[in-house]
Order: sequence, then structure tokens, then C-alpha cells
Amino acid sequence: MSLLAPYACAPADSRGRRHPEPAAPTRSAFQRDRDRIVHSTAFRRLVYKTQVFLNHEGDLFRTRLTHSLEVAQLGRSIARTLHLNEDLVEAIALAHDLGHTPFGHAGQDALNACLKSHHADSAGFEHNLQSLRVVDTLEERYPDYNGLNLSFETREGILKHCSRRNARRIEAREPGGVAQRFLASAEGQPAQQPGLEAQLANLADEIAYNAHDIDDGVRSGLLSLDQLDQVELFAQYRREALLQHPGLNGRRLLFETIRRMLSAQVYDVMDATRAALALAAVDSVQAVRLSPPLVRFSPDMAAKSSSLKRFLLQNLYRHPQVVDTTQTAQQVVRGLFAAYMADPAEMPQAHTDRFDQLESSPLAGDGATAKPERVVADYIAGMTDRFAAREHERLIGRAAFPA
Ligand code: MG
Repeated sequence: MSLLAPYACAPADSRGRRHPEPAAPTRSAFQRDRDRIVHSTAFRRLVYKTQVFLNHEGDLFRTRLTHSLEVAQLGRSIARTLHLNEDLVEAIALAHDLGHTPFGHAGQDALNACLKSHHADSAGFEHNLQSLRVVDTLEERYPDYNGLNLSFETREGILKHCSRRNARRIEAREPGGVAQRFLASAEGQPAQQPGLEAQLANLADEIAYNAHDIDDGVRSGLLSLDQLDQVELFAQYRREALLQHPGLNGRRLLFETIRRMLSAQVYDVMDATRAALALAAVDSVQAVRLSPPLVRFSPDMAAKSSSLKRFLLQNLYRHPQVVDTTQTAQQVVRGLFAAYMADPAEMPQAHTDRFDQLESSPLAGDGATAKPERVVADYIAGMTDRFAAREHERLIGRAAFPA
């Protein structure tokens, strides 16, 4: 690894793991985190989870797994240039979507509504919190503790957003821990940011999905190249590609345009972040925490990226065909929730056993044991798209999606 900048997270300065462990002989703390994530069950499930298009709609669309790999690639490239910790960015990127339900955001919204209507005081369902819950509690791999026992910095990067209410729940269990920064301003303390590696994984996520959703949108036939010409960022690089390669068309033109767009965004983040770091004159991780977010686009690129996002929202995520499958996916999740709540014995024993086990996660509520609705939500959230569809068919007696 290249020399780390003074504002990078150095593994030797990690705030450590919840359950202390001796250091690994050949790997840094963050390399070890990454390896634990790659070997986890939740990571393997990402291959059959929806990003935008449902898994059964086509084999070439992004899944949560290939999306996470693209985020890791972009994050590492930028980290290397800025002398940030590549391993930490990679660990956060590979884990950032572990808590996603089947069927993408549709599944999350349905599960959240189920929990809230079951109990008004429920913490609900939110994929960032669930990702943290997966690595802290739900993975069962080690003899002495639940979860993967990851380093503080990796866990903090995974908890990208958190409501103040849920932050208080986490803080009660883990004082001064990963949720503290969401409470600082409410307590009159200066607002705090996570480390630069977490900020970078977050921005790399955005760069990755903006680009691959264009690709998948065109592949699906829901977006056309002409329609994409309304988007300044796309039109600019399509023009450039055609200037250099007159006559280029079809998929090669699309890929060349996306490739140029991605490169431009990556270089823009490198330059804008370098300038922000210099201007803020940060020289330590602590100084980074007390500064405004420093990993950023230039104002010009930020505006272009926002308008691309608006375009994708209007034309792809809200496309009638996507909305239609979204509604079906929500019915599946609601049906599963109702069926398991009515008869928990429909879940495997390992899950019903958790009703009686002590809970060490704030999302279980303040009680000592996991509430049934949380156990059911965890079970559903862990499902792949196709397993959820099969379970739905088994329990409800009809197929939700056309074969
Ligand atoms: Mg993501």
C-alpha cells in the first residue's frame, strides 16, 4: 500500500472492535474486516438481490453484488490517488448494501410499513441500520460473539444515515460509538463527519449507480440514447466520443460515453477533494471529523450529477414498468410478513429460536429479547429475490411474478 496521508484512517490508530481480539499476523485491521465481509453469508446473498431490475428480469443487469464490486473499484481508485486507506474504503463499499431487502427499495419500503403498522413505536426498517445489524448481530460465524466484530471505522462507514431517534437507541447500547455523530448537533456539539474513507465510499456509490443505471436502463429498453441526450453529462461525453470516433453507435457508443462520464467524475472528485483538503488544512482524522464533508464533486459536477439523478428518477425508477414490478414486490413482502407473524413456525427453527435469545442490538428495542416482528423482518430482509418469491408462492399459493 502507498503511504497514507496524515488525514487517512491508519489501521494502527483504529478505535478497535467491540470484542477485543489480538491483531492478525499478516493483515491490517481493515484488510481483516474486508475478508470477513467477503466470507459472510449476507455478502453471498447480494448476488441474487435486486439493484433496480429484479433478478429474474435478466442475467446481465446489476445485482447488489456487482454494484458493490463497482463501488469498491471506484472507491479504491480514488483512495489510492488521495493516499487514503484503500482497504477501509473497500471494506465499507463491499458491506454498504448488506442490509438491503429483496426487491431493492420496494422491499425496504414495504417492510418498513409492516413494522410501523405492527407497532407505532417501532424503529422501522432502514437498510443502513440493517447493514450494521447484519455485521454486528445477525451473522453467526464465531464461537464467542454474534456478528463479524468489525472495526469501528468500518462500522461507522456502514452506518451512512441514521435518524436521531434510532441514533439514540444505538448510543444507549454503545455510548460514544458509531451513532454519536448523528446526535452531536442536537446536543449543542459541533457536527461530526465520518472519516474520509467513509465519505468516499458514499460518493463512489453515487457515481456507480448513476452510471450503471444508465447502462441497465438502456439494456432493458426503458431508456433510449436519444432520451439520454437531455442529460447534460451524458450528452457532453456522447458528443466527445463521436468526435473522436465518428460513426460509433449502439452499445459501443453507450459504453464509451459511460466510460468517459465515469472517468470525468472520478478525476473531478480527486481534484475537488484535494482542493478541499488543502483549503481546510486538515492534518489528522480528528480534523476531518470536525470539518464539513471534504470528499466531494466540484460545484459544476455536483450540479450535473444531480440533474442526471433527477432524470433517472423520472424516467427509470418511476417508469410504469418498474413501478408495476415494485408494487408486486411490495405485495410479496407484505404477504410474507403477515404469514410469518400469523404462524412463526413457517420460519426455520434457527429463526424462531431467536425469540428467546438475548438481543444485543438496539433495533430489537429496549427489551431483553428480540421481538417477534424484528425476527420476522430480519428473516425477510435476508432473503434473496427468488427465495422470497418462492416462499410467497408456498405460503400464499400463487406465483406473484409471471414465470
Ligand atoms: Mg449502494
